[in-house]
Amino acid sequence: MSKPIQAINRYKADLRELNFLLFEQFKVNELLGKAPFEAWGEDEMKTSLVECYRWAREVIGPLNAIGDTQGCRLEAGHVTTPSGFKAAWKSLYESGWKSIAVDQEFGGAGSPHSLQVLIEEIISGANTAFSMYPGLAHGASEVIESFGTHDQKQLYCTRMYSGAWGGTMCLTEPHAGSDVGAARTSAKKNADGSYSITGTKIFISGGEHDLADNIVHLVLARTEGAPAGTKGLTLFIVPKLRASQDGTVGESNDVSCGAIEHKMGINGNATCVLNFGENGKCVGWPVGGDAKLNQGMSQMFKMMNGARIGVGVQGISVASSAFLNALEYAKDRKQGASIEHWKDATAPRARIIEHADVRRMLLDMKSRVEGIRALAVKLTNHQDCVRALTGKDDTLAAYHQGQVDLLVPLVKAYGSDQAFRVCETAIQTFLGDIGKFVAANSGHAKLGAAAKRLGAAQEALGASTMKLLTWFQTGNMTLVPLYANRFLEMMSETSVAWMLLEGAVIADAKLATLPATEPDHAFYSGKVAAALYFARTVLPGVEHKAAAMGDEDRSPIDLAEAGFATV
Ligand SMILES: Cc1cc2nc3c(=O)[nH]c(=O)nc-3n(C[C@H](O)[C@H](O)[C@H](O)COP(=O)(O)OP(=O)(O)OC[C@H]3O[C@@H](n4cnc5c(N)ncnc54)[C@H](O)[C@@H]3O)c2cc1C
Repeated sequence: MSKPIQAINRYKADLRELNFLLFEQFKVNELLGKAPFEAWGEDEMKTSLVECYRWAREVIGPLNAIGDTQGCRLEAGHVTTPSGFKAAWKSLYESGWKSIAVDQEFGGAGSPHSLQVLIEEIISGANTAFSMYPGLAHGASEVIESFGTHDQKQLYCTRMYSGAWGGTMCLTEPHAGSDVGAARTSAKKNADGSYSITGTKIFISGGEHDLADNIVHLVLARTEGAPAGTKGLTLFIVPKLRASQDGTVGESNDVSCGAIEHKMGINGNATCVLNFGENGKCVGWPVGGDAKLNQGMSQMFKMMNGARIGVGVQGISVASSAFLNALEYAKDRKQGASIEHWKDATAPRARIIEHADVRRMLLDMKSRVEGIRALAVKLTNHQDCVRALTGKDDTLAAYHQGQVDLLVPLVKAYGSDQAFRVCETAIQTFLGDIGKFVAANSGHAKLGAAAKRLGAAQEALGASTMKLLTWFQTGNMTLVPLYANRFLEMMSETSVAWMLLEGAVIADAKLATLPATEPDHAFYSGKVAAALYFARTVLPGVEHKAAAMGDEDRSPIDLAEAGFATV
């Protein structure tokens, strides 16, 4: 008989590090206590992190392994989520964690986004599969809040932000994955102004579940006579159950779950095949009404941007918890003798954290997790500055919006010439900020050499940007996608090094004021070490990659298919 899965939390977070980013590196407190964050102070933010962490460890952390082992069950078209998920969903919304940054108009607490991103990290790190259900509902509601008609906002937003109703995004079809523009789901106008929706979507996260009273699907579909490709796609609101304007839920809207996809992980989240209109009775309404026909992709991009930040945060959350668990294990596990006694078979066993290569791996994990998290908090801090400055100092607000625009689409900038040009300008501004940091810190006693290395990486990145631009201008288009990933890696590594060094300069100044016996002494030393490690071991790779780009190697393109393998 197999052993029952134990409800044990294994999630860990380092709240000291989260507070460092918020209050020491990004100085979020300068935005607090005044519009639009009047209700928020440093204490409220710190308490929220402590309480959310406690909640995550007590409520959803213990359900992580259970969710993955039990998975979801599809019976007669209905999905049952793993044991405990329903109660956790209720508890999540009662605690208010999911709506912490939502506007008060829709029932939220209006906190800064820089707090929300860390709350999201905690929720996702404790139980990724569970966190995807509310994550998708939240993202779909944000789209309706941004682009919906007055009536649509009134009907859907508060219900979706409060967890009364769930939500999904439905782009992918069997023949249309990356190639979203190939979508065939159709929308035919009815006499009452609604549209009949017909088609099949696959891989829909949280497409069907038992957590909420209704599920609001955002579905990309093509109206009759609409242009081919992405330009002819409209985003429709398609509820699982039809609802009247006062929110009363009625009959089924002919949306059925055909199957749950088999996956290697996140089994607690139902990734569904959804059939719309198998009986000709599925109706939907364009987000924003008929005036917004064919604007589905730009509307959906808002959600996809949110989803991309969300996926980034998911990555950080899992990596961070893995690092902290590995650290705990390394401090406890004894194996092998220390290198000084390597010839002595009777020497006492050392804890594995005492072995140099284990220390290298731990510092490598620490520097990557903390650097990437700093980028995410920086992004949300810019969003908060936009909110706080719009209408008061529009020039400064525009600068912060430029930073948001750069940081969000690091992953999506190379789809078109136009996007590239926008990005190229943004990259120059970006690089300018790094240049200022390098100029200010290259004489730093401890971190000066590392700052100079950052400067060298910045120059290499600038040269590679020009290289990409030249390829565009000379019609050498095949090289652009070939090197796009490498370029993004260089951007990310340079940005992460910048964030780590910025934190290290602050930490080093604090170290000078603290006796070695203070617990914070070790914390700040760790920040300096992580930045030095990253600058010395990862950053030189940026210059190397830039040099390799200069060689314009085309081997992957030129190689005949038969040359990849003989099978
Ligand atoms: C767990 C999970 C949850 C998901 N949730 C959702 C959801 O909620 N809603 C939703 O709509 N979809 C969802 N998806 C689907 C996801 O968005 C698609 O998997 C994605 O769009 C890629 O499509 P595909 O799998 O068909 O891969 P394909 O498009 O077949 O691509 C296969 C590979 O080829 C590469 N490739 C394809 N075209 C190009 C090109 N032009 N240039 C270079 N490389 C290319 C891709 O990068 C990829 O590596 C989910 C998928 C997973 C795995």
